[in-house]
Amino acid sequence: MSNASRDRTGRRVAQRLGWLAMALVLSLALVVALIVGRAYVPARAGIGDPYYPDAGGSGYDALSYAVDITYDQLASAFLSGTTVVTLRTTQALDVVHLDLKLAVVDVEVDGATAEFTQQGSDLAVRLPTVAGIPTTPAGKLLDIRVTYSGSLAGVTFPDKASPVYWNGRETLIAGEPEAASVWFPSDDHPSDPATYDITVHVPKDVEAISVGMLVSHGPDPTRSGEDVWHWRTDTPSPTYTTMLTVGQFIVETVPVQIDGVERTAVYAVSEGLPDTKGAMDWLKKSQAAIPMLERHLGRYPVDALGGVMSAIYLNWGGIETLGRPVYDRREVGYDETEFHELSHQWLGDTVTLRDWRDIFINEAMATYVEWMLYGETGKETPQQDFDELYGEKTSQDEFWAQQLSDPGTTYLFTHVYDKGPMAVHALRNRMGEDAFSRFLLEWAGQTGPRSLVDWRTMAQKDSPVDVRPLLAAWLDGTDKVPATTENGFR
Ligand SMILES: [Zn+2]
Repeated sequence: MSNASRDRTGRRVAQRLGWLAMALVLSLALVVALIVGRAYVPARAGIGDPYYPDAGGSGYDALSYAVDITYDQLASAFLSGTTVVTLRTTQALDVVHLDLKLAVVDVEVDGATAEFTQQGSDLAVRLPTVAGIPTTPAGKLLDIRVTYSGSLAGVTFPDKASPVYWNGRETLIAGEPEAASVWFPSDDHPSDPATYDITVHVPKDVEAISVGMLVSHGPDPTRSGEDVWHWRTDTPSPTYTTMLTVGQFIVETVPVQIDGVERTAVYAVSEGLPDTKGAMDWLKKSQAAIPMLERHLGRYPVDALGGVMSAIYLNWGGIETLGRPVYDRREVGYDETEFHELSHQWLGDTVTLRDWRDIFINEAMATYVEWMLYGETGKETPQQDFDELYGEKTSQDEFWAQQLSDPGTTYLFTHVYDKGPMAVHALRNRMGEDAFSRFLLEWAGQTGPRSLVDWRTMAQKDSPVDVRPLLAAWLDGTDKVPATTENGFR
């Protein structure tokens, strides 16, 4: 027996052991993959919305977005950046579908380079597999880091209104049903609220306004001649409630007390407006509106407060971007618009949509609360609004033909603003003041996605009388609602 021989034998044993170990590891991996993948259903490039099937992605829950972008070429609307999406898988996954309109340069999953494909708005990020079976189980936290760039001017919206407003000097990205996917990769659907940390690098002579609290702003330590703005919110909210505007703005920070807590409201008014002071004074009325809303809806649920007014004419009067709604310049003086967007901070931003078909629970409710507050300022009461609208629409068949429970994408944002609050007022009349106040508080006190079915169920539960026939007439009916007590008329 020699050392050499022993050595050879030893090597052979080690070799055999090596192969054995490798085979063992491989079969273990396969067993793990099989167990993990047992309930494996391929993820869809869409969360399953009946109206917008491509929006979002299935099989995960987005928790937070850390967005870090550079927007220093306003003239060409060129944006570049990196976003880390932190998500938790809700099933075994071999692909994560995000939405992003700009071109992706690079993707990393937990620090490792990942394969990806882009088709339309869909960004498909590949996760590891063994023998075609995903090794990422349900319940796994992932950090997906996406680097991307492109011009906002080239972004198109074939089936939706564009949320991009840009005139070469000022840019605004805000809108619904889709907005976030223009500037950061996201599960761009209201059923998946998340938190946001937003850093924007811009030239020194412009401001970058977004949602949440203003953490800091000042000279960019990494680039001379540039500023960096840092915004953050810890209030989970839908992706469409985010916003970004860059341009020359007057920014005012105001200390406010909300529920005994000291906060800082941030207001931004474009220097391109003819009356910046008038716009600023009007925006600041939001501070007085919050206690009025709290009486009906409970504690203010958002960690930030403020408002934004762009110089660009917008396609809507206002939008409920989180804590800091954006208003069209023509809205100055119309307090009801402010009541509306601020009521959405509960109704839409905190109690979110399960799917877009249920827009009623956002817009009918927010418009109704707007009616209530408008009445409280000594203007028309909800009953007067209701009576006036019923008289005005009484012989308009097309008005009554709109089904609030299934309005379709063409009429998504139309009759929910008039027939919608009428239905809520009818419900209030039928269930009585006490029950309605209880219902409003209970509904607005929730967090996360809810459906119209949930809303109807809670209304029925909170009502001393059966309101199902009334809700069927108002929400599902396509004929004029007869003016009876049962239908909420008085
Ligand atoms: Zn609204």
